Amino acid sequence: MKVLFVSAEVTPLAKVGGLGDVIGALPKELIKLGVEPTILLPYYKLFDKVKPKKINLTLETVNFGGSDSVELFETYLPDTKIRVLLAKHPILYREEVYGYPDDSDRFAYFSVAVLKLLKTIKFDLVHCHDWHTGLIPLGLAGTIPSLFTIHNVHPDEGVGFLRRDVIKRLGLPVDKLATTKDVDSDSVNLLAQGIVYADRVNTVSPTHAKEIQTTKFGGALAPLLKSRSQNLTGILNGIDTEIFNPATDRSIVQQYDVKTLDKKIINKRDLEKVCDWSESDHPILGMVTRLTEQKGVDIVVAAAPELVKRHARIVILGTGDPNIENMLRQVEKRYPDNLKVFIKFDAILAQKIYAGSDFFLMPSRFEPCGLGQMIAMRYGTVPIVHPVGGLKDSVIDNKTGFWFTSFSRNKFLVSVSSAINLYHHSHRYNLMQQQCASQDFSWGSSANKYLDLYKLLLSK
Ligand code: ADP
Repeated sequence: MKVLFVSAEVTPLAKVGGLGDVIGALPKELIKLGVEPTILLPYYKLFDKVKPKKINLTLETVNFGGSDSVELFETYLPDTKIRVLLAKHPILYREEVYGYPDDSDRFAYFSVAVLKLLKTIKFDLVHCHDWHTGLIPLGLAGTIPSLFTIHNVHPDEGVGFLRRDVIKRLGLPVDKLATTKDVDSDSVNLLAQGIVYADRVNTVSPTHAKEIQTTKFGGALAPLLKSRSQNLTGILNGIDTEIFNPATDRSIVQQYDVKTLDKKIINKRDLEKVCDWSESDHPILGMVTRLTEQKGVDIVVAAAPELVKRHARIVILGTGDPNIENMLRQVEKRYPDNLKVFIKFDAILAQKIYAGSDFFLMPSRFEPCGLGQMIAMRYGTVPIVHPVGGLKDSVIDNKTGFWFTSFSRNKFLVSVSSAINLYHHSHRYNLMQQQCASQDFSWGSSANKYLDLYKLLLSK
């Protein structure tokens, strides 16, 4: 089964966030199941360093951004035989993956190039990811089966929308464009096109698949998602269990596994030093996150005085919204012995927090899947979560973590109190840690679910 993955990112070649991780990991698992995956991305300048090879195929498209042809290059996903095709055109060939005012134009043009490629190279099905590829199912018009995966229904402000006249210039059927209430009549939401025209749609956790059919989580897309409910499923993302492995992780001072969780204390001692704290038996609550409203850091700040009274120590690593960064700096000044804030992106410190904390906080307002809670569990660190989306699907209340079911400071505090009580009953706490570390969050079982979807699409 030849499957074309179309995406804006792939880890490690062009990673911005979680989307890249999925595209870098899922094809590797699918290959074990007999699928022949090929990945297709725009050729960004950052690919120059891997010296992709030009292939003997040029796609003639419409004139856009100064050229009407796309050259194709190929490289491989590192340490694999998975082919990565790269579409090169002046509008795509930029330093960064995203962040340009014309991003929607760029990816719309990329989608047109993909449609042209699909007329030249034969694939059994196309697996499109996120708004960047939303126009592909529209343009395919059923010629090849398509699966559209939504990683985030709320792309960053201002992206994922495009004017109808641009779509017309690109030669796509404007009369068929799906409409939503979040744009004026001159524009369209690109995610909506994928949702309406793909043969099947999925998102990255079963609970989020239900949530996005409601206005609370799905916003203007909810009615469309609801109308596709028969063809909409959720498949939980996995984590790379080779990278996130406490037994081999060189970022932490003491390696350990599920059978030697007692050694985790050495990492706690190290984390205390990193935070400039004295050695103590007080529980450490860790958090590693983008600082956006979604992630619920405000609730932790609101609860801080109470948490300090209960001798909890909190360490937060993150970057993002300057207002949230400032709020954290302020509260850190008030409680220097209990609250440590690192405003930066630091993959090594992140691992030290996953390994050295006793609990991991994920009070997200919404969370399509979430990786932090899975990484924490793999490191024997008990998550405390607001059970939405993938948090609900991956954390079992009172068995592998704690839930607070309504998003409020008080409910959050009740959960943290239960967690701290458990922590002081070391036998019960150790049991929960073991249950966490024994969970299987590898990509294997999710890859099987994607294969089932592919088979379903091909059987039609
Ligand atoms: P999202 O994709 O919404 O940002 P996830 O929980 O799915 O949230 O994944 C976030 C990933 O990024 C995790 O692996 C987390 O450890 C990592 N991460 C987030 N912020 C930082 C940071 N400041 N430094 C290091 N790693 C970070």
